[in-house]
Amino acid sequence: EEVSPPPMHRHRIKMKGLNVPSQADTFGEMKERYDIPPQLLSNLSKCGYSHPTSIQSSGMPVLFESRDLAAISPTGTGKTLSYLFPILSKLGYPLSASQDPTKKGVRALILAPTRELAHQIHNECLRLTQGRKWRIVLFSKATANSLANKAVRDKVDIIISTPLRLISSYQGGKLELNSIQHLVLDEADRLLDREFLPQVQEILGACSSSGIQKAVFSATLPAEIEKLALKILHNPIRVVIGMKDT
Ligand code: ADP
Ligand code: MG
Repeated sequence: EEVSPPPMHRHRIKMKGLNVPSQADTFGEMKERYDIPPQLLSNLSKCGYSHPTSIQSSGMPVLFESRDLAAISPTGTGKTLSYLFPILSKLGYPLSASQDPTKKGVRALILAPTRELAHQIHNECLRLTQGRKWRIVLFSKATANSLANKAVRDKVDIIISTPLRLISSYQGGKLELNSIQHLVLDEADRLLDREFLPQVQEILGACSSSGIQKAVFSATLPAEIEKLALKILHNPIRVVIGMKDT
């Protein structure tokens, strides 16, 4: 029997958009509805994630169902897993550690405003893919240099980066972004502010694959910034998670 979820999982959920995908209250329900690799589920429970948080219950189905998403949810509510879990599922999960990497080029890009946050996202991604041969790159000067080699680059599945670091490789012709199928802006309020906007717009322009799925995540999204966010998304679902009793 399900035990009642801890308080961090009980927030008010508001969803808006055309044909809003229905929430999934448990990971078991997601497993029934969507194609989720067993190893990913087992890594999930190894991480101690037994119940989805509110943003996960509401946001994950949106991403599983290939929709664009604008998600606003307070700090500490598990936004990282909200996008990593569906994206890792959808990218497919190499069956065994001895298998070759997919060599389909970079298929997911996660942008974060700071190195520190990019680093945290990378760690979470490594935990979820444990035991499997994913190539997940935390972009830095060193990795940028090794990725200048096309043979290396073609084996990378996911890149996590700050905008500036990525832009300099892209502009130097050392990186293509046209194979990217999933793009996430984490802490989008900062990525879409004046400092980062030109860089983020250049990256968006370079992610030219048709049918690319985009998602923005933030703890807060001032009206002006939200307008910008909705403009870069295609027929998005907007999810807002409020603290309980507010
Ligand atoms: P946010 O980005 O919303 O601030 P994080 O993604 O950094 O939140 O997650 C905050 C903490 O919650 C992390 O320590 C993470 O491991 C944990 N967490 C995420 N999802 C769950 C879950 N479903 N159950 C329990 N803990 C979770
Ligand atoms: Mg976060």
